[in-house]
Amino acid sequence: MSKRDYYEVLGVDKGTDEKEIKKAYRRVAMKYHPDRNPDDPDADEKFKEATEAYEVLMDSEKRAAYDQFGHAGVDPSMGGGGFGGGANFSDIFGDVFGDIFGGGGGRGRGGPQRGADLRYTLDISLEDAVKGTTVEIRVPSLSTCDTCDGSGAKKGSSPATCGTCGGAGQVRMQQGFFQVQQTCPNCRGRGKTITDPCTSCRGQGRVEKSKTLSVKVPPGVDTGDRIRLSGEGEAGPEGGPPGDLFVQMSVKQHPIFERDGKHLYCEVPITFADAALGGELEVPTLDGRVKLKIPPETQTGKLFRLRGKGVQPVRGGNVGDLLCRAVIETPVKLNKEQRELMEKLRDSLGQGGNSHSPRQTSWFEGVKNFFDDMTS
Ligand SMILES: [Zn+2]
Ligand SMILES: [Zn+2]
Repeated sequence: MSKRDYYEVLGVDKGTDEKEIKKAYRRVAMKYHPDRNPDDPDADEKFKEATEAYEVLMDSEKRAAYDQFGHAGVDPSMGGGGFGGGANFSDIFGDVFGDIFGGGGGRGRGGPQRGADLRYTLDISLEDAVKGTTVEIRVPSLSTCDTCDGSGAKKGSSPATCGTCGGAGQVRMQQGFFQVQQTCPNCRGRGKTITDPCTSCRGQGRVEKSKTLSVKVPPGVDTGDRIRLSGEGEAGPEGGPPGDLFVQMSVKQHPIFERDGKHLYCEVPITFADAALGGELEVPTLDGRVKLKIPPETQTGKLFRLRGKGVQPVRGGNVGDLLCRAVIETPVKLNKEQRELMEKLRDSLGQGGNSHSPRQTSWFEGVKNFFDDMTS
């Protein structure tokens, strides 16, 4: 199957900055989130597609490669499942939270190869995302083999210097007039060969082991945000330094609240009588119930803003608001007496001319003008 263009997937232009890409990703991810589209494999595919596009476009190196070479320029092995090997992307959290989680540490170049970064998708509730939480996660990963300390050689023995390249890892080959250097085919560049491999790791120096990690989720995170756990990725081959683990947030859909950035939205059903006469209503917030005054003559669609009852953004700034949208509920299951009262009320309102239903009056006017314009 041919892949769609990453910019097209997120619905952004080629020159779009990271902030807009992040916004676009959030929009698409919310729409196709598996929670919202259960049993829809198409939505699931689109969610993964968007995540892949996001990861590439947020990484300046990968993005440059993609812009130049298209899909062939970026590693296609990512995406899919809750867990995958990721590349060295510049995550949006690294700068802010890297230090909290133990810092980057010195990673020397030229030494043993660094282990791969890992990605873990963490599903959390809206409440936890807003208030912050600590979650234990189990992560399958490659860890340094304890038996051989990562050398890959059996206890008591040690890796021998490669006879083909003399330990250089490179061999010179004559090709016509040219002498070219090539990775040693015998030791595959390691410079060492293991004659007596460690039985625990079969000479790999790494073993598959799952570990339990405690992830501190700061308040205010949203779908698409990442937390970096330095050094918790895969162990490097031959005792090399480990990669990082990126925990990607995926906020589950909430039965009452919709979230858009730092603001929360909810619908509040209001009785016909309260809407007409005014009243007081209890509405839910993430901090518990609060009383909301309904003024007389409230119409469906009216938004009540509860300041500061939204979300404290994770990168700082003002707390968002909770916006409650009034929805007038038509009374149902009327008994005989209620029917009679309602009929009386209808007659009474009818006698008041059109003054009791200004919206209906202007709507009829509009319809009349529409037909008059058609016939003239
Ligand atoms: Zn071993
Ligand atoms: Zn060699």
